[in-house]
Amino acid sequence: MKHGLTIALSKGRIYKETLPLLAAAGIEPLDDPEKSRKLILDTNHDDVKLVIIRASDVPTYVQYGAADVGVAGKDVLMEHGGEGLYEPLDLKIARCKLMTAGPVGFVEPKQGRLRIATKFVNCAQRYFAEQGRQVEVIKLYGSMELGPIVGLSDLIVDVVDTGNTLRANGLEPMEHIADISSRLVVNKASMKMKHARVQQLIERFAAAVESE
Ligand code: AMP
Repeated sequence: MKHGLTIALSKGRIYKETLPLLAAAGIEPLDDPEKSRKLILDTNHDDVKLVIIRASDVPTYVQYGAADVGVAGKDVLMEHGGEGLYEPLDLKIARCKLMTAGPVGFVEPKQGRLRIATKFVNCAQRYFAEQGRQVEVIKLYGSMELGPIVGLSDLIVDVVDTGNTLRANGLEPMEHIADISSRLVVNKASMKMKHARVQQLIERFAAAVESE
């Protein structure tokens, strides 16, 4: 939208936890993405739209200006690389940790490359490279916990909240890679061309985050 504001969000946890922030900024969606199949939601402002997309696509939409702003997890931003984006605000929602995990009692072999199954290929490669550890990273799109169980990998890299999913599959969290929370991201051109609008949104979101 040339003059309006397009906000990119993903369904589920991020959408639910962003709603109160949007409300604090005076923005109310007119549809519920959990009930509607619409990918573009109108709001109580004619010129403010929400696009509902895959979490991992949010940085791409904002980078290319298909959305002016978006909400994305730090895990997704680290994996994307963050080019073309400003990240002005930690929204402190959808918190978790990016960790390595493996079978309970796993002992790392002294020789050979560890195999790591993950959807966070770039994060995993960076983490192990920084430590000078030689690993083979295997890209998966979900259910990473299965990797070590079926012998696809030694370890996984995944986001962990309570750790219940890991424990239910005989795994345990091992090494802490990063603390994760969702961030407000802004397209670089929108930050200039729609400065007043974007700045107001950032300030209202910031005030709502502070009051939490
Ligand atoms: P857990 O509470 O550790 O069992 O987490 C349940 C599942 O939700 C895990 O498989 C995680 O991958 C995922 N998860 C937990 N917290 C988040 C988050 N903040 N963002 C995205 N995925 C999450």
